[in-house]
Amino acid sequence: MINILFAAKPASWAEYEAPLRRALDDTGLAYTLSPDTNDPATVDYLVYAPNGPVSDFTPFTHAKAVLGLWAGVEGIVGNETLNIPLTRMVDYGLTEGMVEWVTGHTLRHHLGMDTHIFGQDGQWRDYVPPLARDRTVAVLGLGALGGACAQALAALNFNVVGWSRTQKDIAGVTCMSGPDGLDQTLVQAEIVILLLPLTTGTENLLNATRLDQLPKSAVIINPGRGPLIDDDALLAALDTGQISHATLDVFRIEPLPINHPYWAHPQVTITPHIASETRPDSSARVIAENIRRGETGEPYLHLVDRNSGY
Ligand code: NDP
Repeated sequence: MINILFAAKPASWAEYEAPLRRALDDTGLAYTLSPDTNDPATVDYLVYAPNGPVSDFTPFTHAKAVLGLWAGVEGIVGNETLNIPLTRMVDYGLTEGMVEWVTGHTLRHHLGMDTHIFGQDGQWRDYVPPLARDRTVAVLGLGALGGACAQALAALNFNVVGWSRTQKDIAGVTCMSGPDGLDQTLVQAEIVILLLPLTTGTENLLNATRLDQLPKSAVIINPGRGPLIDDDALLAALDTGQISHATLDVFRIEPLPINHPYWAHPQVTITPHIASETRPDSSARVIAENIRRGETGEPYLHLVDRNSGY
């Protein structure tokens, strides 16, 4: 019997229980699944989210793996009580949601939609946007989410430049890597999309110097993590017009405090960390597949590299 603990937000148990049971039933494994346990030493797998009840893994003495429901792992990757494999979530629901959010917000800025949406005052504003082929969009981070967004934007004909730690090869996307690659990416990026994980190597990546490298009036779209951006530098760049707009989904402190200058800034759009949500049906399949792999000794999917931090 395999004992599985649902160690995510208690309120999400109701929506996850049935999809998890369906997916686990399909593996043919004998299991128990529960949102709590009287004896942590009997737990084999934890289905985990950082906003759930577990932060000390010490009592789970026989657990084989922690299976994360979130894509971002900055809240757990440095947890010293965790000494077993950690996987993160990559699934089509999360990816499709992110592609839709990123594409929508990119098109808003590319097409200058606000001109017409907020300008219904009797003035005939005949602003014609350039074609997507004449607009350069940079995607920083070309992993599961950034790679899919870059491909979707390329399919719309945008001139897409992507940047990652290791060199990638994605059809229709100019792929860059390394510090020089970042410089070459930023100098041409009219719209910048941040889909990097938060690590010591990416914190404050978009600082005053790098914001200055962008073409005048560039747009920032951040569905990655708040600390990727130096907030003071971004506010200063918004005030000078170096950055014409920032659409931000993620922040250093969430919910964003009511007195934060972003709320009042006319050139900032805030969405409340909803760019993409893990979906119970698709993520349950990934969890069940990883438990099946754990039981058969096959490598886990989406294993986190604790050294690189993502
Ligand atoms: P991946 O791990 O698949 O991709 C991360 C990408 O970032 C990779 O291309 C990686 O490079 C690159 N990268 C990492 N560190 C560096 C560095 N120092 N320099 C350059 N490139 C770097 O992650 P996902 O695509 O699945 O997710 C990305 C992030 O999106 C998550 O970490 C999370 O923070 C955020 N997210 C936000 C959500 C929201 O609702 N707002 C929802 C889900 C995720 P390489 O390929 O070479 O390893």
